[in-house]
Amino acid sequence: MSGARISTQHPKWQPRCEFDHTLKGEYCGQIGEVRLDGLLLCNRHARQLESQDKIALLQGISSCIELCLSNITLRRDTTLVGLLRAERAGAARELELAYQELRQAAM
Ligand SMILES: [Zn+2]
Repeated sequence: MSGARISTQHPKWQPRCEFDHTLKGEYCGQIGEVRLDGLLLCNRHARQLESQDKIALLQGISSCIELCLSNITLRRDTTLVGLLRAERAGAARELELAYQELRQAAM
């Protein structure tokens, strides 16, 4: 008998990242590890989708703040305008961070 050992076990099946089920439709051969919005994703694509969701939310918040600031009646309240401008600045900072996260997830 030769000393070679042949494994009779099948390699464990590992589910693949389902990023191709999203609108981006890009195939990913990585192992799915994170469950997000009904999909099993690799860590990189999970971070990418989370960043994209965060960006969309922050853009919506920024648009609402801009709409409020453009309202003539609301602009008469200087305290409210100050609060809205502070919120707008905070949203802009958060948006920049979310874009950084998205760039890092794409690497
Ligand atoms: Zn993936």
